[in-house]
Amino acid sequence: MSCGRINLNCRKCRLSESRTRVVPGTGSCHSKIVFIGEAPGRDEDAKGEPFVGRAGKILDSALEKAGTGRPRVYISNVVKCRPPSNRRPKRNEIDTCRGYLESELAEIRPAVICVLGLTAAKALFDKRGRMSELIGSSFEARIAGCVVNVFVSYHPAACLYRRDKLKDFEKAIEKAVSAV
Ligand code: URA
Repeated sequence: MSCGRINLNCRKCRLSESRTRVVPGTGSCHSKIVFIGEAPGRDEDAKGEPFVGRAGKILDSALEKAGTGRPRVYISNVVKCRPPSNRRPKRNEIDTCRGYLESELAEIRPAVICVLGLTAAKALFDKRGRMSELIGSSFEARIAGCVVNVFVSYHPAACLYRRDKLKDFEKAIEKAVSAV
């Protein structure tokens, strides 16, 4: 189930020219925690659901280890359409799509947001620096009219290439889940 008001035929930016499907967030609109990734990849673009590929399996496993799961949380992305060749979303694409994420957050009103990766941390909360220094950190912020505790985690895809990051990733997810 997705929350907020997301136009599945959106044509507001150029990502609409190459995407297959708009990928809204999914999960519980009553969740107290929202996980926010970067952008849909190939699997998500084909299915219309966030984090259903290999990185999604890593996220699912970390959620399970933290004692929760997809139906009980909400998972979304900074932009709702796949960038060509999985490049990073551009600032204008992030800004154009922001209203959709804000509509999701305004409906859910989470107490905790966990940003998955530097792109989301930077785009939403202007966090800079190295992820190895930010991981596991938290701070208070205001977004979409909500005051939230923000937790920073690696993007799960980072663990696909660097298995040594998996433990820190799982710890960061567990920390965010326990804060609810
Ligand atoms: N990576 C993301 O940032 N989001 C997805 O939905 C899938 C992969």
